[in-house]
Amino acid sequence: MINLTTPIEKLARVGPRFSTRLKKLGIKTVRDLLWHFPARYEDYSKLSLISDVNSVGQMVSIAGKIADIELTRSWRRHMTIINATIKDKSGLIHAVWFNQPYITDALKVGTFVSLSGKTSLDKNGLYLSSPSYEKIDSSTHNLKPITYNLVHTGRLVPIYPETEGLTSKYMRFLIKPLLAQISAQGGSASGGKSISDPLPLELLTKYNFPALAYALQAIHFPENLKQAAAAKQRFAFEEILLFQLRVLRDHRQLQSLKAPQIKFNKELVASFVKKLPFELTNDQRIAAYEILQDLERPFPMNRLLNGDVGSGKTVVALIAAYQTINAGLQAVFMAPTEILARQHFQTITEMLASQSPIKIGLLIGGEAKQWPNDETETEKIPKKLMYKKIAAGEINLLIGTHAVIQKDVIFKNLGLVVIDEQHRFGVEQRMKLVKNSNLSPITYHLSPHLLSMTATPIPRTLALTIYGDLDISLIKEKPKGRQQIITKIIPRNKRDGAHKFIEQQIKNGRQVFVICPRIEMSKTDGFARAKPISQAKLVWAEVKAVTEEYEKLSKNVFPQYRVAMLHGRLKSKVKDEIMKKFKDGHYDILVSTSVVEVGVDIHNATIMMIESAERFGLAQLHQFRGRVGRGPHQSYCFLFTSPVRNHPAEGTATTASGRPTSNGTSSSDTPVGRHLRALELTDDGFQLAEMDLKIRGPGEFTGTQQSGIPDIAMASLSDLDLIKKARLEARLLLKDDPALKHYPLLAIRLAEIQRLVHFE
Ligand code: ADP
Ligand code: MG
Repeated sequence: MINLTTPIEKLARVGPRFSTRLKKLGIKTVRDLLWHFPARYEDYSKLSLISDVNSVGQMVSIAGKIADIELTRSWRRHMTIINATIKDKSGLIHAVWFNQPYITDALKVGTFVSLSGKTSLDKNGLYLSSPSYEKIDSSTHNLKPITYNLVHTGRLVPIYPETEGLTSKYMRFLIKPLLAQISAQGGSASGGKSISDPLPLELLTKYNFPALAYALQAIHFPENLKQAAAAKQRFAFEEILLFQLRVLRDHRQLQSLKAPQIKFNKELVASFVKKLPFELTNDQRIAAYEILQDLERPFPMNRLLNGDVGSGKTVVALIAAYQTINAGLQAVFMAPTEILARQHFQTITEMLASQSPIKIGLLIGGEAKQWPNDETETEKIPKKLMYKKIAAGEINLLIGTHAVIQKDVIFKNLGLVVIDEQHRFGVEQRMKLVKNSNLSPITYHLSPHLLSMTATPIPRTLALTIYGDLDISLIKEKPKGRQQIITKIIPRNKRDGAHKFIEQQIKNGRQVFVICPRIEMSKTDGFARAKPISQAKLVWAEVKAVTEEYEKLSKNVFPQYRVAMLHGRLKSKVKDEIMKKFKDGHYDILVSTSVVEVGVDIHNATIMMIESAERFGLAQLHQFRGRVGRGPHQSYCFLFTSPVRNHPAEGTATTASGRPTSNGTSSSDTPVGRHLRALELTDDGFQLAEMDLKIRGPGEFTGTQQSGIPDIAMASLSDLDLIKKARLEARLLLKDDPALKHYPLLAIRLAEIQRLVHFE
């Protein structure tokens, strides 16, 4: 008997070849198969009488008997052609198929058949051109096929996300019989186990969601679109609910841990702030205050500090670190790359120079530094010595990369962990840091407080879902006197002008970033998120695009200047090195894919030039823009749009969200152009992020990919109402029954998800 855990190899319709292809998609069991939802539906549901078919290019569904069918081979053109005549009570119509000789095995004279396809016209009149077809049971020979028995024609037909070597027709062929088997079992009292519904009955009733077996049927083979939408809602709700349950449980677990209570010393903080070379903005003040209050609690803080590039997050984190250190504890700052770690070390030592003395360490893959240096030791010290100093508590603040959480690093008494650009570290990785902190000696039983920082503005809906109960502090306000970055969409015919302007800037000693188009080789639409067909191909195509742009700029456009290039294929050491040389002024132009570091300060860079800007989301474009304007000079962001696919990718160019790029035009009066125009008008990252969420959906946001939210839920993340419901219900479920004893199926699903996440 088939149940949800049956491996796909056991299915009669899955041979070794297809089983490999399915597995590539992560489909291993019947469950995976049934949860592989269609991206959209083709509407073949309107059944016509043949006599009513009368216009060209019309999509029609008909049913009838094969009156005649014949196969001809055209040797010259290497082709087989099948001509058939179909007859119903109202008349006759022809159908033609090319190069599908096997059709004559299925369709013979006298076969009842249902056909859906487009009409074409030739000298003999209207005919159906390569229609989808399927045999109908002869018992329905009154030629009114019962819709739900049809699979490929005469109904709403599911179209699955396109994947290499697996057609929608094949997926339907696999899924349709499974649905029948599963729901037959679900109906009986004894065998119902294989398809029991994890959603509590109360919730199904309360929100009028379809039950599982029905919803599966409805999402794959709906009778109408409303039914499909209801099923989709139900699955999205279920996934978001499970996700919320997980987040809430994690949160509870955190709150059950003990952290050092660090008293908010107002005089200390006030004197620290007074010695800063600038006034804090209001938002910085509020964020710092929220953090300092968290530190007083007896359980670990778990707060996200979210503020645009340049909003001044570092100093806020530093205030928290300063307070922690003055309470006699250690703090650690973790950055995703060496170059960012070095930058933090430099700016933080500068900022702390005027404050009461604390000892700062830098620890990255290859080296360790201390500040201020000892009389007996230089700034650079052996890593072993650094470990010793950390363990002895002689280093108060440690700054570094992943190196700071390696097993050799044991703190004496770690009170605060700050993670910069947190999206670069997985959600689970962050939790681990706090939960089973291997950073402290066994005798130190306290967990550190955790502050994560990100420059990706995250719309509220999304934040609620991804981070659940993570507390969030927002810095929206920019420090006073920040320059506006002049942003312009550059049409094709103004390109030369832009190049001249750029040249002038370089002549004046400024530097330029060039971002190459994003390439994603996947095709989906509807509510399934785009799945890259092959990551390797994608990276390869990006490297090729960057190389071409690099060649073009260095040889043709700016031959007299120093051009460097950066892409994801380079080792991170090499990337760091190129970035460092750019920062130190060894290059005039840096051509790059989107890998360019968010946080690196290049004070002298004044131009951000983005190729095929329409392929990026607004939030990401805004991030790129934030990489200039960090010094004293007026800065510019030029958005170039592409007329046609002008990159060398194999496969079809699509926008990052998987939709094909607008066919050719992206001037300002197309939807794409209008959306880019928002960048000219505002530099509010949050506003842009909200727009992006509406336009492109949530898949685009950095960090959401690692969140473990399934596609179906992802697509519904802009549905605030659904999220609210799921959050509320998750809370209520856990309130009285934290172990979900009354809902064992839900508990099992939750455990499964947690296991999956840990294996990633
Ligand atoms: P980000 O939020 O991107 O990490 P940083 O913390 O690197 O931003 O701050 C960017 C720059 O702004 C730094 O040079 C910092 O010293 C400066 N800065 C921070 N806060 C203020 C402020 N309130 N007024 C003026 N300059 C500030
Ligand atoms: Mg920063």
